[in-house]
Amino acid sequence: MSKVIIIGAGGVSNVTVHKCAAMPEVFSEIILASRTKSKCDAIAQSVKAKYGRTILTEQVDADNVPLLVALIKKHKPQMVINLALPYQDLTIMDACLEAGVHYLDTANYEPKDVAHFEYSWQWAYRQKFKDANLMALLGSGFDPGVTNVFCAYAQKHFFDEIHSIDIVDCNGGSHGKAFATNFNPEINIREITQPGRYFENGEWKTTPPLSVHQGFDFPEVGVKEMYLMFHEEMESLALNIKGLKKIRFWMTFGQEYLTHLRVLENVGMTRIDEVEYNGQKIVPLQFLKAVLPDPGSLGENYEGKTCIGCVIEGLKDGKFVRKFIYNVCDHAETFKEVGSQAISYTTGVPAMIGAKMMLQSIWKEAGVYNMEELNPDPFMDDLNKYGLPWNIVEWKSSVE
Ligand code: NDP
Repeated sequence: MSKVIIIGAGGVSNVTVHKCAAMPEVFSEIILASRTKSKCDAIAQSVKAKYGRTILTEQVDADNVPLLVALIKKHKPQMVINLALPYQDLTIMDACLEAGVHYLDTANYEPKDVAHFEYSWQWAYRQKFKDANLMALLGSGFDPGVTNVFCAYAQKHFFDEIHSIDIVDCNGGSHGKAFATNFNPEINIREITQPGRYFENGEWKTTPPLSVHQGFDFPEVGVKEMYLMFHEEMESLALNIKGLKKIRFWMTFGQEYLTHLRVLENVGMTRIDEVEYNGQKIVPLQFLKAVLPDPGSLGENYEGKTCIGCVIEGLKDGKFVRKFIYNVCDHAETFKEVGSQAISYTTGVPAMIGAKMMLQSIWKEAGVYNMEELNPDPFMDDLNKYGLPWNIVEWKSSVE
C-alpha cells in the first residue's frame, strides 16, 4: 500500500496515472500535480469514469523547490514520479531529498538555454541520495528505459560479451496531421536538431544532424528509413555494459516530417534563444510549441504501430551471436485502452513499472541509478503483463 505524487499532466502522465490507478494494491493513493490544474482534473475525471477511483489534484510550479517540498510534506508519499519536463529534474530531485522521498523520471536533465543532454548533473546527486538512504531511478520510459533493460537482459541471459548495440526506434504510425510531434514539441525538436553522436572504440564520434541514414526492416511495420541521432541512454550503457565497443541510436522519420523540420529550422522557428517581438521577449521554439497540435490530442485518429528495440551482437561460449529484442505497440489499441497514442503509452507504462519495482522493494538501492544497473528480469515480466510484450529473435544481419 503506497502513496505517490505524479508531477506533470501531459500525454505520458495520462498513461501512467491510468496504469497506476488500475493497480490499487500497489498504488493505493495517487496525487496528480502540475502547472495547470485543469489538465490534472481532466485526467482525474477520466480515471474516475474508467476505474471509479479518486485521484487528488494539485497545482504546483515544479521549478520552485520550496513549493515542491511543501506539496510533498503535505501528502507524505513514498515517492515522486516526475513526468514534467527535463528542465524540472533537478528541482524535483532537490525537493525529494529535502522531503525524504524516492524519485523517478523518464528523461535526463536539460538546461533550458542550451540543448545539451548528459547525465552528469543527475549523477552528481549519487552521494546525496545514498546518504539520505533514498533511491532515484533515471530514465524509466521506453528509450531511455526499456531499451536499457533490454540490454541488461541480453547481457544477463544471452551473451558473455556484448560488442555492439544498435537501438532502433520506429514510429510506423500516422496521425493524419501535416506536422506534429509525438511528445512535447520543444523537447522533441531540441533533440532531433542536435548533431548525431555515437560511441566507438572508447570514443564519441559526431556527425552532422540527420546526415547518416539507412533502411531497416522493422517487424510488423516494414522497411523504414532511420537516422543516426544522439540519445541519452547511450551515455550510461557505454559505461555499464562492460566490453562494449560500439553503440548507436537510430530513429525513423518520414520525408514530410523532415521537410517541415528543415523549413522551420531555416526560418528560425526552432531557435531556443530569446527574440524581441512587439516589445516582448519570446523563444521561437516555445512559440512553435503553442501553435502545434498537443501530442496528447493525437491519439484519436492515430493508425499503425511503433517498433522499438535493440540489435545486439557479441559472443556466447566463444560463438558469435546477434539478437534483436523489441516491442511492437499499436496506436489504436493504446487509444482504446487509455485514450493516448503509442508514444505516450510506451513511455507511461515503463514509468508505472519502474515505480512499482521501487514501491514493492524489488528494486531497492540507495543512490542514483540508470535502468540497466538493476535486475532486468522482474521488469521484463511486468512489460509482458502490463501492455508492452516483447520478442527476442535471432537477427538476420548487422546494422551497417
Ligand atoms: P507534455 O508536454 O505533454 O507534458 C509535460 C507536463 O509537464 C505538462 O502537463 C506541463 O504543464 C508540465 N510542466 C511543465 N513545466 C512545469 C512546471 N514548471 N511545473 C509543473 N508542471 C510543469 O510532455 P510529455 O507528456 O510528452 O512528456 C513528459 C516527459 O516524458 C518529458 O520529460 C519527456 O521528455 C519524457 N519522454 C520520455 C520518453 C522516453 O521514452 N524515455 C519518450 C517521450 C517523452 P502544462 O500543461 O501547464 O504545460
